[in-house]
Amino acid sequence: MLTTAPSGPAQSQSSLSREQIEAAIAKLVPMERVMIRLLMLQYLNPTHDDVSFMAQERAEPQMKAGTKLRGFPMNADGTPILPKEWIAAIELKVNQYATQVREHRRRLDLQIDFINDYLGDLQRETEAIESLLTTDCGCATEALEELRSQARQALISYALRKLAVRAEKEALEEDAYLKERLGLEYQAHLRRRDRFKKRLEQIAQERQVSVFSSLSDEHLATIWGIAKAPIMNRRVKAIQKYLNALASVLNSQFAGGEFAAAVNAGLGSRMPGGSKNEGIGTKYLEAKEDLWSKTLLALPPAPLPNEPKPCEHDGAGKVLIGKLRSLATYVMGEEDEAKLWIRTIQCLPCLVRLRTMQQEVAELGESSETVLQRVRARTAMPRKETTEVPGTTPEKTDADSVAHLEELLRPFIGTDILPEGSARW
Ligand SMILES: [Zn+2]
Repeated sequence: MLTTAPSGPAQSQSSLSREQIEAAIAKLVPMERVMIRLLMLQYLNPTHDDVSFMAQERAEPQMKAGTKLRGFPMNADGTPILPKEWIAAIELKVNQYATQVREHRRRLDLQIDFINDYLGDLQRETEAIESLLTTDCGCATEALEELRSQARQALISYALRKLAVRAEKEALEEDAYLKERLGLEYQAHLRRRDRFKKRLEQIAQERQVSVFSSLSDEHLATIWGIAKAPIMNRRVKAIQKYLNALASVLNSQFAGGEFAAAVNAGLGSRMPGGSKNEGIGTKYLEAKEDLWSKTLLALPPAPLPNEPKPCEHDGAGKVLIGKLRSLATYVMGEEDEAKLWIRTIQCLPCLVRLRTMQQEVAELGESSETVLQRVRARTAMPRKETTEVPGTTPEKTDADSVAHLEELLRPFIGTDILPEGSARW
Protein backbone atom coordinates (compact mmCIF):
# COMPACT_ATOMS: atom_id res chain seq x y z
CA MET A 1 0.00 0.00 0.00
CA LEU A 2 1.11 3.46 -0.72
CA THR A 3 1.31 5.37 2.50
CA THR A 4 3.22 8.40 1.37
CA ALA A 5 1.60 9.39 -1.90
CA PRO A 6 3.50 12.52 -2.86
CA SER A 7 0.52 14.57 -3.91
CA GLY A 8 1.88 18.03 -3.23
CA PRO A 9 5.05 19.58 -4.57
CA ALA A 10 8.11 17.80 -3.27
CA GLN A 11 9.82 21.08 -2.42
CA SER A 12 7.54 21.67 0.54
CA GLN A 13 9.51 19.01 2.43
CA SER A 14 12.66 21.10 2.45
CA SER A 15 13.54 24.18 4.41
CA LEU A 16 16.25 25.50 2.09
CA SER A 17 15.60 28.48 -0.15
CA ARG A 18 16.72 28.93 -3.74
CA GLU A 19 18.68 32.02 -2.66
CA GLN A 20 20.72 29.95 -0.20
CA ILE A 21 21.43 27.33 -2.84
CA GLU A 22 22.43 29.95 -5.42
CA ALA A 23 24.63 31.71 -2.85
CA ALA A 24 26.46 28.44 -2.17
CA ILE A 25 26.98 27.77 -5.89
CA ALA A 26 28.28 31.32 -6.35
CA LYS A 27 31.10 30.57 -3.88
CA LEU A 28 32.49 27.80 -6.12
CA VAL A 29 35.17 28.01 -8.80
CA PRO A 30 33.85 27.80 -12.40
CA MET A 31 34.60 24.10 -12.87
CA GLU A 32 32.67 23.19 -9.72
CA ARG A 33 29.79 25.47 -10.62
CA VAL A 34 29.47 23.80 -14.01
CA MET A 35 29.51 20.37 -12.40
CA ILE A 36 26.87 21.23 -9.79
CA ARG A 37 24.53 22.73 -12.38
CA LEU A 38 24.95 19.67 -14.59
CA LEU A 39 24.32 17.32 -11.68
CA MET A 40 21.19 19.34 -10.90
CA LEU A 41 20.14 19.69 -14.52
CA GLN A 42 16.59 18.67 -13.63
CA TYR A 43 16.37 21.84 -11.52
CA LEU A 44 18.99 24.34 -12.70
CA ASN A 45 20.03 25.87 -16.00
CA PRO A 46 23.75 26.08 -16.77
CA THR A 47 24.58 29.73 -17.40
CA HIS A 48 26.18 31.22 -20.48
CA ASP A 49 29.48 31.35 -18.56
CA ASP A 50 29.15 27.67 -17.74
CA VAL A 51 28.68 26.86 -21.40
CA SER A 52 31.68 28.99 -22.42
CA PHE A 53 33.77 27.30 -19.77
CA MET A 54 32.91 23.86 -21.15
CA ALA A 55 33.58 24.97 -24.72
CA GLN A 56 36.93 26.34 -23.69
CA GLU A 57 37.89 23.11 -21.96
CA ARG A 58 36.86 21.11 -24.95
CA ALA A 59 39.21 23.30 -26.97
CA GLU A 60 42.19 23.05 -24.64
CA PRO A 61 43.72 19.80 -25.88
CA GLN A 62 43.80 21.39 -29.30
CA MET A 63 45.32 24.55 -27.89
CA LYS A 64 48.02 22.53 -26.18
CA ALA A 65 48.70 20.71 -29.40
CA GLY A 66 49.22 24.17 -30.82
CA THR A 67 47.14 23.58 -33.90
CA LYS A 68 43.62 24.81 -34.41
CA LEU A 69 43.39 27.58 -31.85
CA ARG A 70 46.44 29.48 -32.98
CA GLY A 71 45.45 32.87 -34.19
CA PHE A 72 42.16 33.09 -32.26
CA PRO A 73 41.48 36.55 -30.86
CA MET A 74 41.76 36.78 -27.06
CA ASN A 75 39.49 38.24 -24.43
CA ALA A 76 40.92 40.83 -22.04
CA ASP A 77 41.39 38.08 -19.43
CA GLY A 78 43.53 36.03 -21.77
CA THR A 79 40.91 33.44 -22.67
CA PRO A 80 40.36 32.81 -26.37
CA ILE A 81 37.20 34.04 -28.08
CA LEU A 82 35.78 30.75 -29.20
CA PRO A 83 34.00 30.12 -32.47
CA LYS A 84 30.22 30.39 -32.14
CA GLU A 85 29.75 26.81 -33.35
CA TRP A 86 31.70 25.48 -30.39
CA ILE A 87 29.43 27.28 -27.96
CA ALA A 88 26.37 26.19 -29.94
CA ALA A 89 27.50 22.56 -29.84
CA ILE A 90 27.68 22.60 -26.04
CA GLU A 91 24.35 24.41 -25.78
CA LEU A 92 22.77 21.78 -27.97
CA LYS A 93 24.00 18.96 -25.74
CA VAL A 94 22.92 20.75 -22.57
CA ASN A 95 19.45 21.28 -24.02
CA GLN A 96 19.18 17.70 -25.22
CA TYR A 97 19.91 16.29 -21.79
CA ALA A 98 17.87 18.94 -19.98
CA THR A 99 14.91 18.03 -22.19
CA GLN A 100 15.38 14.36 -21.47
CA VAL A 101 15.57 14.57 -17.67
CA ARG A 102 12.90 17.26 -17.33
CA GLU A 103 10.45 15.55 -19.67
CA HIS A 104 10.87 12.36 -17.71
CA ARG A 105 10.14 14.16 -14.47
CA ARG A 106 7.20 16.03 -15.95
CA ARG A 107 5.62 12.83 -17.22
CA LEU A 108 5.91 11.31 -13.76
CA ASP A 109 4.42 14.40 -12.10
CA LEU A 110 1.55 14.49 -14.59
CA GLN A 111 0.75 10.82 -14.05
CA ILE A 112 0.72 11.26 -10.29
CA ASP A 113 -1.54 14.32 -10.48
CA PHE A 114 -3.82 12.57 -12.93
CA ILE A 115 -4.18 9.38 -10.89
CA ASN A 116 -4.72 11.20 -7.60
CA ASP A 117 -7.66 13.11 -9.08
CA TYR A 118 -8.79 10.07 -11.01
CA LEU A 119 -9.04 7.95 -7.87
CA GLY A 120 -10.86 10.70 -6.00
CA ASP A 121 -13.57 11.02 -8.66
CA LEU A 122 -13.71 7.28 -9.16
CA GLN A 123 -14.55 6.97 -5.48
CA ARG A 124 -17.49 9.35 -5.95
CA GLU A 125 -18.76 7.36 -8.94
CA THR A 126 -18.43 4.11 -7.03
CA GLU A 127 -20.40 5.58 -4.15
CA ALA A 128 -23.08 6.76 -6.59
CA ILE A 129 -23.38 3.23 -7.98
CA GLU A 130 -23.54 1.79 -4.47
CA SER A 131 -26.27 4.20 -3.59
CA LEU A 132 -28.28 3.38 -6.73
CA LEU A 133 -27.87 -0.33 -6.07
CA THR A 134 -29.22 0.18 -2.57
CA THR A 135 -32.04 2.63 -3.27
CA ASP A 136 -33.19 1.78 -6.81
CA CYS A 137 -32.41 -1.93 -6.85
CA GLY A 138 -32.99 -2.82 -3.23
CA CYS A 139 -29.61 -4.49 -2.77
CA ALA A 140 -28.81 -5.34 0.82
CA THR A 141 -25.39 -4.90 2.41
CA GLU A 142 -24.68 -8.60 1.88
CA ALA A 143 -25.41 -8.35 -1.84
CA LEU A 144 -22.93 -5.48 -2.17
CA GLU A 145 -20.39 -7.43 -0.18
CA GLU A 146 -20.80 -10.37 -2.54
CA LEU A 147 -20.29 -8.15 -5.59
CA ARG A 148 -17.12 -6.79 -4.02
CA SER A 149 -15.74 -10.19 -3.13
CA GLN A 150 -16.28 -11.48 -6.67
CA ALA A 151 -15.07 -8.38 -8.46
CA ARG A 152 -11.60 -9.73 -9.18
CA GLN A 153 -12.80 -12.82 -10.97
CA ALA A 154 -15.96 -11.51 -12.63
CA LEU A 155 -16.22 -11.81 -16.41
CA ILE A 156 -17.52 -8.32 -16.82
CA SER A 157 -17.41 -7.81 -20.58
CA TYR A 158 -18.85 -11.25 -21.25
CA ALA A 159 -21.71 -10.57 -18.85
CA LEU A 160 -22.31 -7.13 -20.33
CA ARG A 161 -22.52 -8.58 -23.82
CA LYS A 162 -24.97 -11.22 -22.68
CA LEU A 163 -27.00 -8.58 -20.89
CA ALA A 164 -27.12 -6.48 -24.06
CA VAL A 165 -28.48 -9.39 -26.05
CA ARG A 166 -31.13 -10.17 -23.47
CA ALA A 167 -32.18 -6.52 -23.35
CA GLU A 168 -32.46 -6.46 -27.11
CA LYS A 169 -34.68 -9.55 -27.07
CA GLU A 170 -36.65 -7.97 -24.26
CA ALA A 171 -35.96 -11.08 -22.25
CA LEU A 172 -35.72 -9.19 -18.98
CA GLU A 173 -37.47 -6.42 -17.10
CA GLU A 174 -36.03 -2.98 -16.71
CA ASP A 175 -35.45 -3.51 -12.97
CA ALA A 176 -33.48 -6.66 -13.54
CA TYR A 177 -31.46 -5.00 -16.28
CA LEU A 178 -30.56 -2.05 -14.09
CA LYS A 179 -29.55 -4.23 -11.18
CA GLU A 180 -27.29 -6.39 -13.28
CA ARG A 181 -25.81 -3.51 -15.19
CA LEU A 182 -25.05 -1.51 -12.03
CA GLY A 183 -23.56 -4.58 -10.38
CA LEU A 184 -21.22 -5.08 -13.32
CA GLU A 185 -20.20 -1.44 -13.38
CA TYR A 186 -19.62 -1.59 -9.66
CA GLN A 187 -17.22 -4.48 -10.11
CA ALA A 188 -15.55 -2.79 -13.07
CA HIS A 189 -14.98 0.31 -10.95
CA LEU A 190 -13.49 -1.69 -8.09
CA ARG A 191 -11.07 -3.35 -10.49
CA ARG A 192 -10.27 0.01 -12.04
CA ARG A 193 -9.46 1.42 -8.60
CA ASP A 194 -7.07 -1.44 -7.87
CA ARG A 195 -5.31 -1.04 -11.21
CA PHE A 196 -4.76 2.67 -10.79
CA LYS A 197 -3.67 2.36 -7.17
CA LYS A 198 -1.04 -0.09 -8.28
CA ARG A 199 0.06 2.23 -11.08
CA LEU A 200 0.26 5.14 -8.64
CA GLU A 201 2.43 3.12 -6.30
CA GLN A 202 4.90 2.29 -9.06
CA ILE A 203 5.01 5.80 -10.47
CA ALA A 204 5.46 7.39 -7.03
CA GLN A 205 8.44 5.12 -6.51
CA GLU A 206 9.86 5.98 -9.89
CA ARG A 207 9.47 9.68 -9.21
CA GLN A 208 11.21 9.42 -5.87
CA VAL A 209 14.17 7.84 -7.64
CA SER A 210 14.05 10.50 -10.34
CA VAL A 211 14.02 13.39 -7.83
CA PHE A 212 17.39 12.29 -6.42
CA SER A 213 19.00 11.19 -9.69
CA SER A 214 21.61 12.97 -11.71
CA LEU A 215 23.32 12.27 -14.99
CA SER A 216 25.89 9.51 -15.13
CA ASP A 217 29.58 10.21 -15.68
CA GLU A 218 29.23 9.02 -19.28
CA HIS A 219 26.50 11.55 -20.00
CA LEU A 220 28.34 14.34 -18.16
CA ALA A 221 31.42 13.60 -20.25
CA THR A 222 29.35 13.72 -23.43
CA ILE A 223 27.93 17.15 -22.61
CA TRP A 224 31.24 18.54 -21.47
CA GLY A 225 33.14 17.01 -24.35
CA ILE A 226 35.96 15.66 -22.21
CA ALA A 227 37.04 12.17 -21.15
CA LYS A 228 35.12 10.27 -18.52
CA ALA A 229 38.08 9.74 -16.19
CA PRO A 230 38.45 13.32 -14.92
CA ILE A 231 34.67 13.64 -14.55
CA MET A 232 34.53 11.35 -11.54
CA ASN A 233 37.13 13.29 -9.55
CA ARG A 234 35.52 16.57 -10.44
CA ARG A 235 32.18 15.25 -9.38
CA VAL A 236 33.36 14.24 -5.91
CA LYS A 237 35.21 17.51 -5.46
CA ALA A 238 32.35 19.69 -6.65
CA ILE A 239 29.88 17.94 -4.36
CA GLN A 240 32.17 18.33 -1.35
CA LYS A 241 32.85 21.99 -2.11
CA TYR A 242 29.20 22.74 -2.66
CA LEU A 243 28.18 21.13 0.62
CA ASN A 244 30.81 23.08 2.54
CA ALA A 245 29.74 26.29 0.82
CA LEU A 246 26.11 25.63 1.64
CA ALA A 247 26.92 24.88 5.28
CA SER A 248 28.76 28.19 5.49
CA VAL A 249 25.83 30.05 3.87
CA LEU A 250 23.59 28.46 6.49
CA ASN A 251 26.09 29.21 9.27
CA SER A 252 25.95 25.59 10.29
CA GLN A 253 28.51 22.86 10.80
CA PHE A 254 28.42 19.19 9.92
CA ALA A 255 28.13 16.90 12.91
CA GLY A 256 29.06 13.22 13.06
CA GLY A 257 28.58 11.51 9.73
CA GLU A 258 26.47 14.27 8.20
CA PHE A 259 29.05 15.39 5.67
CA ALA A 260 29.75 11.85 4.47
CA ALA A 261 26.02 11.15 4.22
CA ALA A 262 25.47 14.25 2.10
CA VAL A 263 28.42 13.44 -0.18
CA ASN A 264 27.10 9.92 -0.63
CA ALA A 265 23.68 11.27 -1.51
CA GLY A 266 25.33 13.47 -4.13
CA LEU A 267 27.28 10.57 -5.58
CA GLY A 268 24.27 8.30 -5.46
CA SER A 269 24.20 4.58 -5.11
CA ARG A 270 25.93 3.44 -8.24
CA MET A 271 24.89 0.47 -10.22
CA PRO A 272 27.48 -1.97 -11.49
CA GLY A 273 29.26 -0.57 -14.51
CA GLY A 274 27.34 2.65 -14.54
CA SER A 275 25.73 5.20 -12.39
CA LYS A 276 22.70 5.60 -10.27
CA ASN A 277 20.45 6.94 -12.96
CA GLU A 278 20.72 4.17 -15.48
CA GLY A 279 17.79 2.24 -14.19
CA ILE A 280 14.91 2.51 -11.84
CA GLY A 281 15.57 1.21 -8.39
CA THR A 282 13.31 -1.45 -6.99
CA LYS A 283 13.23 0.06 -3.54
CA TYR A 284 11.27 3.09 -2.50
CA LEU A 285 13.89 5.73 -1.75
CA GLU A 286 13.32 7.45 1.55
CA ALA A 287 13.66 11.21 1.47
CA LYS A 288 16.84 11.98 3.39
CA GLU A 289 17.77 14.78 5.72
CA ASP A 290 21.23 15.52 4.35
CA LEU A 291 22.02 18.85 2.68
CA TRP A 292 22.35 17.38 -0.81
CA SER A 293 18.94 15.69 -0.71
CA LYS A 294 17.42 18.76 0.89
CA THR A 295 18.78 20.88 -1.96
CA LEU A 296 17.07 18.67 -4.55
CA LEU A 297 13.81 18.72 -2.61
CA ALA A 298 13.94 22.50 -2.30
CA LEU A 299 14.08 23.14 -6.03
CA PRO A 300 11.08 22.87 -8.34
CA PRO A 301 11.81 21.15 -11.65
CA ALA A 302 13.06 23.64 -14.24
CA PRO A 303 10.95 24.27 -17.35
CA LEU A 304 11.73 22.38 -20.54
CA PRO A 305 14.15 24.21 -22.86
CA ASN A 306 11.45 24.00 -25.56
CA GLU A 307 7.81 23.04 -25.36
CA PRO A 308 7.35 19.56 -26.79
CA LYS A 309 6.21 19.29 -30.38
CA PRO A 310 2.65 18.00 -30.81
CA CYS A 311 2.64 14.26 -31.36
CA GLU A 312 1.10 12.37 -34.24
CA HIS A 313 -0.72 9.71 -32.25
CA ASP A 314 -3.90 8.77 -34.09
CA GLY A 315 -3.41 11.87 -36.17
CA ALA A 316 -3.84 13.70 -32.84
CA GLY A 317 -7.42 14.23 -33.91
CA LYS A 318 -10.89 13.57 -32.59
CA VAL A 319 -10.46 9.81 -32.32
CA LEU A 320 -7.65 10.19 -29.83
CA ILE A 321 -9.51 12.89 -27.90
CA GLY A 322 -12.51 10.56 -27.67
CA LYS A 323 -10.36 7.71 -26.40
CA LEU A 324 -8.63 9.85 -23.82
CA ARG A 325 -11.98 11.16 -22.67
CA SER A 326 -13.28 7.60 -22.23
CA LEU A 327 -10.22 6.81 -20.18
CA ALA A 328 -10.58 9.91 -18.01
CA THR A 329 -14.29 9.36 -17.43
CA TYR A 330 -14.12 5.66 -16.45
CA VAL A 331 -15.89 4.22 -19.44
CA MET A 332 -13.16 2.31 -21.20
CA GLY A 333 -12.81 -1.47 -21.30
CA GLU A 334 -9.84 -2.97 -19.49
CA GLU A 335 -7.90 -4.13 -22.49
CA ASP A 336 -8.27 -0.85 -24.37
CA GLU A 337 -7.38 1.05 -21.24
CA ALA A 338 -4.20 -0.96 -20.66
CA LYS A 339 -3.04 -0.35 -24.24
CA LEU A 340 -3.90 3.34 -24.23
CA TRP A 341 -2.36 3.90 -20.81
CA ILE A 342 0.97 2.36 -21.72
CA ARG A 343 1.20 4.44 -24.85
CA THR A 344 -0.03 7.66 -23.29
CA ILE A 345 2.40 7.75 -20.38
CA GLN A 346 5.32 7.53 -22.78
CA CYS A 347 4.20 10.60 -24.70
CA LEU A 348 4.30 13.99 -23.03
CA PRO A 349 1.83 15.75 -25.39
CA CYS A 350 -0.68 12.90 -24.96
CA LEU A 351 -0.31 13.03 -21.20
CA VAL A 352 -0.78 16.79 -21.16
CA ARG A 353 -3.91 16.33 -23.26
CA LEU A 354 -5.24 13.69 -20.89
CA ARG A 355 -4.59 15.80 -17.81
CA THR A 356 -6.10 18.93 -19.41
CA MET A 357 -9.20 17.00 -20.34
CA GLN A 358 -9.55 15.69 -16.80
CA GLN A 359 -9.25 19.21 -15.41
CA GLU A 360 -11.83 20.54 -17.87
CA VAL A 361 -14.28 17.86 -16.78
CA ALA A 362 -13.54 18.62 -13.12
CA GLU A 363 -14.11 22.34 -13.64
CA LEU A 364 -17.76 21.60 -14.24
CA GLY A 365 -17.78 21.02 -10.48
CA GLU A 366 -20.11 18.09 -10.30
CA SER A 367 -22.26 17.65 -7.19
CA SER A 368 -22.98 14.17 -5.84
CA GLU A 369 -26.43 14.52 -7.36
CA THR A 370 -24.98 15.16 -10.84
CA VAL A 371 -22.70 12.14 -10.52
CA LEU A 372 -25.73 10.10 -9.59
CA GLN A 373 -27.70 11.40 -12.58
CA ARG A 374 -24.84 10.64 -14.91
CA VAL A 375 -24.49 7.08 -13.68
CA ARG A 376 -28.26 6.66 -13.89
CA ALA A 377 -28.38 7.91 -17.48
CA ARG A 378 -25.49 5.71 -18.50
CA THR A 379 -26.85 2.52 -17.01
CA ALA A 380 -30.52 2.86 -18.00
CA MET A 381 -31.91 0.07 -20.15
CA PRO A 382 -31.47 0.96 -23.83
CA ARG A 383 -34.83 1.75 -25.39
CA LYS A 384 -36.03 0.77 -28.81
CA GLU A 385 -36.23 3.84 -30.94
CA THR A 386 -39.89 4.81 -30.82
CA THR A 387 -39.68 8.14 -32.57
CA GLU A 388 -38.92 6.68 -35.96
CA VAL A 389 -41.66 6.98 -38.52
CA PRO A 390 -42.31 3.47 -39.88
CA GLY A 391 -41.01 3.00 -43.38
CA THR A 392 -38.43 5.76 -43.24
CA THR A 393 -35.63 3.57 -42.01
CA PRO A 394 -34.48 0.33 -43.56
CA GLU A 395 -35.40 -2.89 -41.74
CA LYS A 396 -32.83 -3.86 -39.18
CA THR A 397 -31.73 -7.45 -38.84
CA ASP A 398 -31.16 -9.06 -35.46
CA ALA A 399 -27.44 -8.85 -35.98
CA ASP A 400 -27.74 -5.14 -36.70
CA SER A 401 -29.65 -4.60 -33.50
CA VAL A 402 -27.12 -6.43 -31.39
CA ALA A 403 -24.34 -4.50 -33.06
CA HIS A 404 -26.22 -1.29 -32.34
CA LEU A 405 -26.69 -2.26 -28.73
CA GLU A 406 -23.08 -3.21 -28.34
CA GLU A 407 -22.27 0.18 -29.74
CA LEU A 408 -24.37 1.77 -26.99
CA LEU A 409 -22.44 -0.23 -24.44
CA ARG A 410 -19.23 0.20 -26.36
CA PRO A 411 -17.04 1.71 -23.71
CA PHE A 412 -17.69 -1.18 -21.41
CA ILE A 413 -17.34 -3.99 -23.84
CA GLY A 414 -13.82 -5.06 -24.25
CA THR A 415 -11.76 -7.91 -23.01
CA ASP A 416 -11.41 -8.38 -19.29
CA ILE A 417 -7.94 -8.60 -17.94
CA LEU A 418 -8.21 -11.12 -15.18
CA PRO A 419 -5.67 -11.91 -12.51
CA GLU A 420 -3.36 -14.75 -13.49
CA GLY A 421 -4.67 -18.21 -12.94
CA SER A 422 -8.34 -17.29 -13.02
CA ALA A 423 -10.83 -19.13 -15.17
CA ARG A 424 -11.36 -18.04 -18.74
CA TRP A 425 -14.37 -18.68 -20.92
ZN1 LIG B 1 1.16 11.26 -28.22
